[in-house]
Amino acid sequence: PVSIALENCAKTFVDGTRALEPLDLAIHAGETVVFLGPSGCGKTTTLRIIAGLEEPDAGGKVLFDGVDVTHLPIEQRNVGMVFQSYALFPNMTVAGNVGYGLRIRKVPDAQVKARVSEMLAMMQITRLADRRIDQLSGGQRQRVALARAIAVRPRALLLDEPLTALDAKLRDTLRLDIDSLLRSLGITAIYVTHDQAEAMALGDRIVVMEHGRVAQIGKPREIYQRPATRFVADFIGTMNRLTGTAREGIFRCKAGIVPWAEAPATATEILFRPEDIRVAESGEAASLQGKVASAFFLGDRTRLFVDVGEERPLVIESTARRDFQHGEAVGLAIDPRGLLVL
Ligand code: ADP
Ligand code: MG
Repeated sequence: PVSIALENCAKTFVDGTRALEPLDLAIHAGETVVFLGPSGCGKTTTLRIIAGLEEPDAGGKVLFDGVDVTHLPIEQRNVGMVFQSYALFPNMTVAGNVGYGLRIRKVPDAQVKARVSEMLAMMQITRLADRRIDQLSGGQRQRVALARAIAVRPRALLLDEPLTALDAKLRDTLRLDIDSLLRSLGITAIYVTHDQAEAMALGDRIVVMEHGRVAQIGKPREIYQRPATRFVADFIGTMNRLTGTAREGIFRCKAGIVPWAEAPATATEILFRPEDIRVAESGEAASLQGKVASAFFLGDRTRLFVDVGEERPLVIESTARRDFQHGEAVGLAIDPRGLLVL
């Protein structure tokens, strides 16, 4: 697999839109990197610069294994691409689509046939080989697009929101299959999404983007547990906040106190995830008090919104085997290991 580096890659479109601020990024050979961020933050633009569909502004460079490919067109970079919109040839069969890249590379027929069967089997669509594209569901089409992209043994696989158009159940299955595909191929992959669950599931590393800039790069757990900015903290998962003051190992807020030995004296706001707070059992001492504003029973747990006198209620996931009443008073306990100050 190939390593990919971006050096000082910025992008300003002819109409003056600044899509990307100068970006440096090193992607290791064989790694899956996810570009994650809200719509319009520059994910697709960055991917297209890597693919060779777009050139960076003057001074920017794209390197594959250390070789400058900045001005090489897509055909000469040997990357596979998969888009949200499939981009398959509707008048060809599934097998025709999957073998297309091999045929234009003048691979002998027998080899094309063998490689196509191998790809169809890998994507579990062997039985669809002779179907036309318009006879397929969205999920099946995306399997064909993946098979077509990897059939030519690309140096890297670039995926731009490949699951976004699919419904939730299908997304889960295909996400699992893409994960095992990327692992078994050991290919360098860049996966663009605005979906944080997808990013966490698939990325060896995640590049969180905001307004054409990198907000944070890290492993999923680092990004989740140690977000670098408020934007990252809020964009990935749910973040609770309490405002108040810290003194001598205690953070005081409207709803009570949070014992936190390492509380920085300057802290006026503490952050923590829903899994780092729980409803105290009856009789258990609790240093924070709140009132249940809403309770959604989700089957395996209940998601509680608890009013603690802050701008937003706290989000708490309870696995207690009981229902919660609207307005019910609850004691709360926070695990100090999950506390953050930004
Ligand atoms: P994302 O994929 O994160 O949603 P894009 O990279 O597609 O974001 O777009 C980044 C910004 O650049 C957006 O403001 C978008 O409107 C703008 N943009 C994208 N392509 C073009 C283009 N060809 N011409 C002008 N502006 C563009
Ligand atoms: Mg996009």
